[in-house]
Amino acid sequence: DQADSAAARRDLAFHLHPSTNLALVQAEGPLVISRGEGVYVYDEAGNRYIEGMAGLWCAGLGFSEKRLAEAAYRQMLALPFYHSFSGKVPAISTELAEKLVGVAPEGMGRVFFANSGSEANDSAVKLAWYYNNALGRPDKKKLISRRKAYHGVTVASASLTGLAFAHSDWDLPAPRFLHAETPHHWRGARPGESEEAYAQRLADELERLILAEGPDTVAAFFAEPVMGAGGVLVPPATYFERVQQVLGKYDVLMIADEVICGFGRTGNMFGSQTFGIRPDVITCAKMMTSGYQPMSAMMVSQRIYSVLEDQSRKLGVFGHGFTYSGHPVPAAVALETLAIYEERDLLAHVRRVAPVLQEGLRAMADHPMVGEARGVGLIGAWELVRDKATKAGFDPKAAVGAQFVRNAQRRGAILRVLPGDIIAFSPPLVIEEHELRELLAHAAGALDETWQWVKAKGLA
Ligand code: PLP
Repeated sequence: DQADSAAARRDLAFHLHPSTNLALVQAEGPLVISRGEGVYVYDEAGNRYIEGMAGLWCAGLGFSEKRLAEAAYRQMLALPFYHSFSGKVPAISTELAEKLVGVAPEGMGRVFFANSGSEANDSAVKLAWYYNNALGRPDKKKLISRRKAYHGVTVASASLTGLAFAHSDWDLPAPRFLHAETPHHWRGARPGESEEAYAQRLADELERLILAEGPDTVAAFFAEPVMGAGGVLVPPATYFERVQQVLGKYDVLMIADEVICGFGRTGNMFGSQTFGIRPDVITCAKMMTSGYQPMSAMMVSQRIYSVLEDQSRKLGVFGHGFTYSGHPVPAAVALETLAIYEERDLLAHVRRVAPVLQEGLRAMADHPMVGEARGVGLIGAWELVRDKATKAGFDPKAAVGAQFVRNAQRRGAILRVLPGDIIAFSPPLVIEEHELRELLAHAAGALDETWQWVKAKGLA
């Protein structure tokens, strides 16, 4: 019946959905969402859903923060558009740049604005190339990211991404993009191997990769503090410490993709702070505006900025920027978002309620279908498996995770399945304890219902 409304019929006739199984949406119809309130969204028929993913990991302040709407409206009246090219700049964008440097991990000096996480990562790839050209190292251009990473879908950011759907059929990754091992202790560690020993092994493998390629050819290492779309993978203890030792040895830039972790997801303003990462470059987006306006940023250290400035003295121009870089309306929304964070001490709130989510997820670790329950702060996951002893997953064609998502939706909770039947949780940061319990209850019900379905179909 989802497909029955006028909006659904229009959608099926005219809309090419992003990142969607196109045949499936044609068959099942879209869920048409018409309004939001707090941590809930409502479909056209008035059915209410608790949004367990904050949309796409982004609506940190929920779906009805009027102050963000008012900030956008005020800015629209004062200055609806201006650009930052060639020495001009909207006042509000400079205010945001200063604010971001103020809340960023130590060492960030300048902010470049873009519109999406993909663009921020594309910009970081180009920055790594420009930087090494400026330093007279034209061969130091390779980028290393990790298998299962998600960094976006533009040509460069999709090349950084380490997931098959971003590569197969798209002639990607482009040359010069390499992928290192995924840091996932539960799946990747050898029997009895501690997190620390596993982290050291991965750092040694990274070092071997850099040496095999030639350190003079490797520009940067990209990493999400917690890998998001690849499965909500929390790094093993000491992983980033070990990796940074290797990067430092070969003068390879550490680029932290904070598009999901940035702005409080892990309980600190940035995931880099949670995991002791010392980035040279940070990319961020999503929760910077609580998702209410498209905006992203690339922050660079003062050391890198000085090199760029020197180079542009020679070339005359830093030839990279977008029409909407630092657009005043999203800038105003981002500033208001950060003001609300401070006034409500949202980071303290996240730390207070996070144990409800984390303990709730782990409470289901004994379920016959949950291989691993994991997470940190307000991000987490269940990895569904066919056989807990061998950790073997279900046949992807059985689409067990998709069945879970359907069951959860019918109960009134929106959750997301990631490749490998991994169920992701990333609710709005403003979620209250009783709402987290509601989300977890729907999820637990959906899990049992899916398990009955799996057994009835003979899938396990
Ligand atoms: N980086 C990470 C870690 C992401 O999760 C995403 C999107 O989900 C991106 C980059 C790409 O951002 P966008 O979809 O805004 O291009």
